[in-house]
Amino acid sequence: MQNLKNLLSGPEWLVEENGFDVDRINFYETIFTVGNGYLGTRGSLEEGHAAALQGTYLNGVYDHHQSFVVDLVNAPDWLDISVYIDGEKLSMQTCEILNFERTLDMKNGMLFRETRFQDSQGRITKYQSIRFAHMASPHVMETYVSITAENYSGVVTIEGAINANVLNLDVEPVFKTKTKFDPDVKWHKWAKSVHLDHVSGSLTNEGIYLEVKTKDRPHHIGYASSLKASKEGAISSKKIDHKYALQSLTVSIEQSETITFEKQVSIFTSRDVSKKDVKPSAVSLLSENSNDSFLTRFKTHQAAWNAKWDACEVIIEGDDAANHALKFNTYHLLITASPVDYHANIGAKSLSGEGYKGHVFWDTEIFMLPFYVFTQPETAKALMMYRYNTKEGARDYAQEDNHKGIRYPWESADTGHEVTPPWTSDGLVRIWTGERELHITSAVVFGLIYYYETTGDNDFLIDFAAEILFETARFWDSRLEYNNELDRYELTEVEGPDEFHELVNNSVYTNALTKWNLEKSAEYYTILKASNPNKLKILSDKISLQEHEIENWLDKAAKIYIPFDPDKSLIEEFEGYFNLKEVPITEWDENDMPIYPEGYHHDNCQETTLLKQPDVLMLTYILPSMFSDQVKKANYDYYEPRTMHKSSLSPCIHTIMGIEVGNYEKALQYFERSVYVDLVDNQGNTNTGMHIASAGGSWQAVVSGFGGMRLKGGKLTFKPWLPPSWTSISFKLKWQGDEVHVTLNHTKFVFLWKTEKSGKLDIEVKDSAVALPANQEMIVML
Ligand code: BGC
Repeated sequence: MQNLKNLLSGPEWLVEENGFDVDRINFYETIFTVGNGYLGTRGSLEEGHAAALQGTYLNGVYDHHQSFVVDLVNAPDWLDISVYIDGEKLSMQTCEILNFERTLDMKNGMLFRETRFQDSQGRITKYQSIRFAHMASPHVMETYVSITAENYSGVVTIEGAINANVLNLDVEPVFKTKTKFDPDVKWHKWAKSVHLDHVSGSLTNEGIYLEVKTKDRPHHIGYASSLKASKEGAISSKKIDHKYALQSLTVSIEQSETITFEKQVSIFTSRDVSKKDVKPSAVSLLSENSNDSFLTRFKTHQAAWNAKWDACEVIIEGDDAANHALKFNTYHLLITASPVDYHANIGAKSLSGEGYKGHVFWDTEIFMLPFYVFTQPETAKALMMYRYNTKEGARDYAQEDNHKGIRYPWESADTGHEVTPPWTSDGLVRIWTGERELHITSAVVFGLIYYYETTGDNDFLIDFAAEILFETARFWDSRLEYNNELDRYELTEVEGPDEFHELVNNSVYTNALTKWNLEKSAEYYTILKASNPNKLKILSDKISLQEHEIENWLDKAAKIYIPFDPDKSLIEEFEGYFNLKEVPITEWDENDMPIYPEGYHHDNCQETTLLKQPDVLMLTYILPSMFSDQVKKANYDYYEPRTMHKSSLSPCIHTIMGIEVGNYEKALQYFERSVYVDLVDNQGNTNTGMHIASAGGSWQAVVSGFGGMRLKGGKLTFKPWLPPSWTSISFKLKWQGDEVHVTLNHTKFVFLWKTEKSGKLDIEVKDSAVALPANQEMIVML
């Protein structure tokens, strides 16, 4: 394969970088992350760069040690490749760069690069590479490099290394505002933490092997690597230098000749196999693969990607940019979650960066889960199993405050204990979210029920979800505060989704979701009593659940104070919110994002009615049947102008609810903010990782916003609206083991229910019942 460019897909699948700009290096590293759910590797240059923020993150591998809070570990770098021509390194910093381009191929899950270097001797070398994390064989990482000597003959040396001398960013330095750093030293100023100790290094038949372990946690991490040249006669050498292992090949190259090299790395940890099997697994996988050509391995990787896209591609006709941007968001959702790891989840910055330390938030259940449930249910299951498997930490958390049952942590890592830092890393600002954002517990239950209703996975319901439903109900039961005077249950000193208001009483979002959680737990108890009494009995014995507890949940739920006056449409976000100071938003930045009114910032908006992100609106979205159209509209009209969107989770909800209340102009404006957030870096912080919840939210904005899809009473319902310039959208939804194909244009829906079942599938379109026949297209006029 002489020209690696020939492997690239059509233009709608590509994201391109043309020309090298050191100021943008970290941005491209994030958006060019490759991964496969087992790991994610940022798009750093193979040979390194002083300005790089290099990172490889193995899903679920956390460590604490000296770091400020538990970190998703920056694992050894498998990419490291350097090329020397007659001893001179090809480097972006020392050579003249005649051209530089990189292309992320989202269809094939790979990153292509071409760079033409002119070194100090005037030698011009064309360097091409592709890299990918194998989608069908998740422990395998590949880089393929081709070197062309354009105007010289000489000797080329390629070094392929495993580098475990890597660090996590820890504490950001404090400098005067507006201090400007040279990009080359920007990250050097951070305090960093070490998480890896050397275990062993050895030479193998194929190449090299290096093993390290995390400092606090018991994870052993082993990488086996091999390097091969297409040309015979290369001289090989290998060395191990503590946390660094290297294999090199040296071979002569003639003018105009192209030589290709393949570096293959296999990775195992003691999370995957027993500690003693880490090395044999990594080494033997590499030698098994050595019988196949690179192209053969690439083809199996490509086939796995094709299957993923087949399940989840959304096609937007009439708006190529939106079509492309949604694919970009989807690509990142596909590379970050594992369908088989029941102990790992998705951090707020996916596996593409260290922002939020890889911690897991409500982002998973509320923003991303719908994408996985409807396109990759096995991955959705794995995400929910993580909550099941971290429930003992969540149980400890409830007990810390003498509460019963389980309380999920606002930020979660590997154990289910709370890992939200109580202070900002400079020690200046107290962070209350961990203590007060109780609503994460009902978000987990929301996710469980969403998964169950969509998949109909009865075994999951009784074997895993039920225990969480009952134990979270117990938590609320013990946490609710009885107000004797008013004869009602309340939650005081909490924080709802709007994090500008940190200490509030009776947040309507929190209270309504608590009530919903208690009622759903009771409802599912009744369902299981009828459908699966034996298993319910076993579970009840296991957790000593008594029937009277269920009645108690319902009694308390009925008396939870929901500050909502049915005679008035407007819902007060929390008690006293309407008395706060009104400070209008009057300025917007170049990305159309609100600018803080003069004198205001994140920490003093508490005094005002300004919101960080949707709160009441969020509630009207996730519990759609609770509110009338009129209430939804009144609250959109009231809260939207007061929302600062200081979270990337905000615009997607404003798209969906904008469509629901008929404010199409706003909906379109917010869709742009959501779907392009990372592609155009409209929040200015993509350099430290993707806003992956916004990616999930953007998928929802298309399917649930423009497509108008909602789950209501366990049924699929649709109320669409298409932007005038769009011709159509089409997508597929996995539904109870079957598939529903949906195409929508301005006049009609075309549905196809693909199933082995007989009978009809009941859905709703614009509030009217529709029965879809099996395996036959059905047109529903709008
Ligand atoms: C948002 C939270 C979100 C977190 C992680 C915060 O800025 O306010 O709602 O869960 O970021 O994405």
